[in-house]
Amino acid sequence: MNVITTLSAMLAQREIWKRAGKQIGFVPTMGYLHEGHLSLVQRALTENDIVVASIFVNPLQFGPNEDFSRYPRNFERDTQLLEAAGVSAVFHPSPEEMYPPDANTTIEVKGVSEGLEGAVRPGHFKGVATVVAKLFNLVGAQKAYFGQKDAQQVAVLKQMVRDLNFPTEIVVCPTRREKDGLAMSSRNVYLSPEERRAAPVLHIALESAARLWLEAPDKRNGDSLRTIMQAVLDAEPLAKPDYVSAADPVTLAEYGGAIPADKGALLSLAVRFGNTRLIDNLPLEANY
Ligand code: AMP
Repeated sequence: MNVITTLSAMLAQREIWKRAGKQIGFVPTMGYLHEGHLSLVQRALTENDIVVASIFVNPLQFGPNEDFSRYPRNFERDTQLLEAAGVSAVFHPSPEEMYPPDANTTIEVKGVSEGLEGAVRPGHFKGVATVVAKLFNLVGAQKAYFGQKDAQQVAVLKQMVRDLNFPTEIVVCPTRREKDGLAMSSRNVYLSPEERRAAPVLHIALESAARLWLEAPDKRNGDSLRTIMQAVLDAEPLAKPDYVSAADPVTLAEYGGAIPADKGALLSLAVRFGNTRLIDNLPLEANY
């Protein structure tokens, strides 16, 4: 497996693959890999000739009081996992390589980036959109793989790809969970044993709202969905919710009252446990 650390080497390698007629699949990550990341890699391997994964903890998407410097890193283990999986190359640039001092362009996706994570983490999606645009240009993949776990990220990137005519198709893969329902996340290692025991409450809250959705299709209502999720979270003293949302799955506009029968919904949550912030979501289809 090829470890690529410079932009020029990435561009040169991608030209070699292009000339050989290879289809490239791309899996962007911030490393500290778990089965969720590896499920994206597996999917990419089945659909492409070459798979490139990136490992880059992107400083631009972290706020000044967020966890950039303490974000977990283990490059050696990550490369072993990716090599064993069958990845052709890991792109692992330094922050200086990605953002030279004279860099002066960012990408802002309006609308869909403004609520939920965007409201609590100002500038986060500007950082995400900018780094993903750069990575797309450098890797030149036909398909790029993202997790449903970060549903708003997917919505923002799909909008960016549409608006800026990127030739890369975004493929969304389901959220991988621990046995007790906790969504896999690199940040789960921050949790104390008590917080870890409490953390499946996000999934329990989402499932409670999903049952309500299924029970009474003619009475689907944004307020009722939020109320039941909030009640489940309130019963867990260690959980401090940032937001509880039931929104239009495409625009991410919050549903007020009644939800039209032909509409799905995206349930999403952000909850703090001490200094650790976890997010999770559940997409609900109109006809289920
Ligand atoms: P990250 O390293 O957290 O930036 O995540 C890299 C990619 O893996 C993103 O597209 C995430 O949505 C995806 N991902 C993270 N956690 C999971 C999970 N539990 N299941 C599926 N995909 C995930």
